[in-house]
Amino acid sequence: MMIKFQDYNFKGKKAIIRVDFNVPLNAEKQITDDTRIRMALPTIEKILSDGGSVVLMSHLGRPKGGPEEKYSMKPLVPYLTKALGREVKFADDCIGEETLALKNNLKAGEVLLLNNLRFYKEEEKGNKEFAQKLAEGVDVYVNDAFGTAHRAHASTTIIAEFFPNDKMFGFLLANEVESMDKVLKQGEKPITAILGGAKVSSKISVIENLLGKVDNIIIGGGMTYTFIKAMGGKVGNSLVEEDYLETALSVMQAAKEKGVTIYFPSDSLNADKFDNEANTSVSEINNVPEGLMGLDISEKSIALFKEVILKSKTILWNGPMGVFEMSNFAKGTIAIANALVEATENGSFTLVGGGDSVAAINQFNLADKVSYVSTGGGAMLEYIEGKVLPGVAAILD
Ligand code: AMP
Repeated sequence: MMIKFQDYNFKGKKAIIRVDFNVPLNAEKQITDDTRIRMALPTIEKILSDGGSVVLMSHLGRPKGGPEEKYSMKPLVPYLTKALGREVKFADDCIGEETLALKNNLKAGEVLLLNNLRFYKEEEKGNKEFAQKLAEGVDVYVNDAFGTAHRAHASTTIIAEFFPNDKMFGFLLANEVESMDKVLKQGEKPITAILGGAKVSSKISVIENLLGKVDNIIIGGGMTYTFIKAMGGKVGNSLVEEDYLETALSVMQAAKEKGVTIYFPSDSLNADKFDNEANTSVSEINNVPEGLMGLDISEKSIALFKEVILKSKTILWNGPMGVFEMSNFAKGTIAIANALVEATENGSFTLVGGGDSVAAINQFNLADKVSYVSTGGGAMLEYIEGKVLPGVAAILD
């Protein structure tokens, strides 16, 4: 039986939480984006308010397998102290005798932050002895790090073995899984997936898995042109993956067989160079002039996509419609974001995930106007590819 975090009484219990505190720090060691920490606070606060104590463990950056001052978690202590309104203790090492003593001395309502898990190669190797050391001195294991749930690391997966009856998702991870299942397993029809971004190659498994689950797929962004070329269109200098032309056609055939409608852009905003200041013009999507490259969708596509989105009850969005990092090629992505906001207002369930669409929706300040914004790029993609995430499986087992 899976234990529900909100139903568990932490009174008198020591809980170790795998959080994702891999936050960006500036040269002064200040946190420049605290989203990941803020999102984990409700999980920490629930345990503390029950009368439990908390040990926090995370990785930060990419240390080379040994301690490195620049990847120390210590600079997070002042932030956490303020956010939680209580003293936060720090263990300079995530395992070892001194750390065990700190764990053993932890009292109800206290918080201990462990230093970077990736100071040990054993973390990413999923080493069992290392996981056991992490598990020492605590009663409960909580996984709240969705961003690493697709990796079978010691702290995300292996450690769960040591808590057969006391392992659970925190609020954040439970929400992530629930939101994805709302689309993939219990989605109200019509269900539409909007897929954009640069490459077909990185989204092909996603498309294939979605074919059995959604009614419509909207394709946008750079990967459009591989499909258009495969269908015999002219794409000029647009991004094309020559190796994927056949795959594109077979995906379209599979969609047809499964009764899934694929919507492609009808027009293309073209540029004479990959530059925000490039000269631009609009063409039919399958008639991009020689020498020009399509960097965004244009008005006709926006109108078409908006219509499909507003008719859908469940919408998943992954990947921008154009090179949104350049303001002159962000219009399509902004329009889709706004259509999602409107759909949400009309009662549809809207899930945005994958690094770049999340960056886009944050950039447009619309993140709190859709139903859910996923925190895990790679993990979310693997989940919608239909893969079992080891970190999720370890709790469900
Ligand atoms: P991905 O990581 O595959 O989701 O791709 C995201 C990237 O795709 C963003 O950096 C976009 O700038 C880029 N992108 C979107 N549309 C295009 C396009 N038409 N041509 C080139 N790159 C694009």
